[in-house]
Formats: sequence, C-alpha cells, structure tokens
Amino acid sequence: MGFEIPGVLWRRDPEKGELPLVFDSPHSGSLYPEDFGFGCDLLALRQTEDAYVEELYESAPLRGATLIAALFPRSYLDPNRAADDLDPALIEGAFPYPLRPSQRTRSGLGLVRRIARPGIAIYDRKLAAAEVLSRIERCHRPYHRVLEEACERLLRAFGILWHINCHSMPSASGRLKDADFILGDRGGTTCAPRFTSFVAEVLRERGYRVYVNEIYRGVEIVRRQGRPAQGRHSLQIEVARRLYMDERSLAKAAGFSRLKADIAHLVEALAAFAEAGCRIRAVKSR
Ligand SMILES: [Zn+2]
Repeated sequence: MGFEIPGVLWRRDPEKGELPLVFDSPHSGSLYPEDFGFGCDLLALRQTEDAYVEELYESAPLRGATLIAALFPRSYLDPNRAADDLDPALIEGAFPYPLRPSQRTRSGLGLVRRIARPGIAIYDRKLAAAEVLSRIERCHRPYHRVLEEACERLLRAFGILWHINCHSMPSASGRLKDADFILGDRGGTTCAPRFTSFVAEVLRERGYRVYVNEIYRGVEIVRRQGRPAQGRHSLQIEVARRLYMDERSLAKAAGFSRLKADIAHLVEALAAFAEAGCRIRAVKSR
C-alpha cells in the first residue's frame, strides 16, 4: 500500500494497525534527473547522499507507521531547506521572489547546493531561474505536500503525531567523532523533551553513543512539522555512515545488518511509545 510519484518520492502506508507515527527520508534518493547538468564527478555527488537510510527504516510500515522517501538526490534539490533559502550568486538573472539565504547556504549548502563538499563545485555554470523553479515545483513542493498530508491526517485522526526525520551523517571530526547518532529537536522546540530522551535512551541501551542538539540540530523539515503545542512532535535522527557503509565507495559495510536490526528495534519501541500515548488519550477523552 502507498504510492509513488516517479522520480520524486514514494510513500509506504502501514500494513496493519495504523499509528500516528511517520518517518521520512529526504536525502537517500539516488535517481539523478537528466536535466541536472552538473559539472563534477558523479561519485562526489553520490557521496552526499544519505545512502540506504530508507532501507534502514523499512520495517516502519510493518509496525503501523508511514514511511516516505525522496527519490531525487539531495544535491539536485534539498527538501530540508526552505524554498527561499537559495544563494543568488548561483542564479543567472533575477529570481521571481525574494531570497533569504542562510549561513549554510552562503557556504554552498542551500536549497540548491553550490558544492558537493568543500573544494568541489557542482556546476561550471550559473543556473537559470526557470531551472531552479522547476526543481522546486517538481521536487520540493510535492515532498512537503505528501509529508504534510500524512502528518496532518494522522494528527486529526489521533489528536497527536510523532514524526521522525531520518538522515545519515559523514564521519565527524573533533569532539563528536565518536558519535553514532545525533538527535536534533532544534534546542527542544520541535517535540516534547520526553520524545527526544526516549529515543536517546533506546539507542544508548543498544550500546550507541548518542548526542543531542550538537552540530545537527534539525533544519527545515522538523521546523515545519514540529509544533509540540499542537501535539505535533518532530525529531531529526542522524546516524553515522561509518556504521553501515564505506563512505567513499558507498558499498554497504559488514555492520549494515546489525544497524538495520537495531533501527527495527527502535521502530518497535517508537510504535509502543505511540500506542501507549494513544491509550492514555483514549482514557482521558472518556
Ligand atoms: Zn540528510
């Protein structure tokens, strides 16, 4: 059950026992559109993917959750940026609406990225405004629409919504280089603190090193979805790529199946968490 918008995204619906629990993977897409027109090595772009993240969470629909994944690559268009978070220097001519580039965008990592990584420019040209607008229309809008519809419908049905925004991160350096997971709720603003601490605890019990609101604090998707005062709780989870893949070749590593099993355990725990919340609400509303 579910549906697909070819080249853009798919949504997999709960196979049984629907819960107000949604997972989305915005950066694991690897279908490179014909009109991308990049000027760097494809491998440099592929190394920016949150590769296999949709696969790591694939047990979610078996446990009553909805799972949404992008099919287009994040280097083509990043759904985890606002539609006006764009660097004017990347665009040829005038843009039809005002742009508000963030600090991240100024460093090359905006809605449409300028660089694959520091020192590697993606384009040897500027992009036409029409080209960027068509990426927004084709990818950004439907991604947010499908996610919003899923979250909104479940919130209306259950009176509460738990959303996990799923990512993977390259090896960090410095203080956080031992991080296995980093959780981000934008400093406690996108979900109830007990949701963040529950996820951290489940992962720590499996032996992982978990940090909260360090480096990856959550960006546009949790900012949009997370409205805890209205019962909408949204948390970003970053998992270290070194746990499951070779970061250069993108080949799956030996740890892949262990991590996938541990994420299935997390999904199970979150389903029980969501179920318990539903029971409490049902008792209260009697
Ligand atoms: Zn990501």
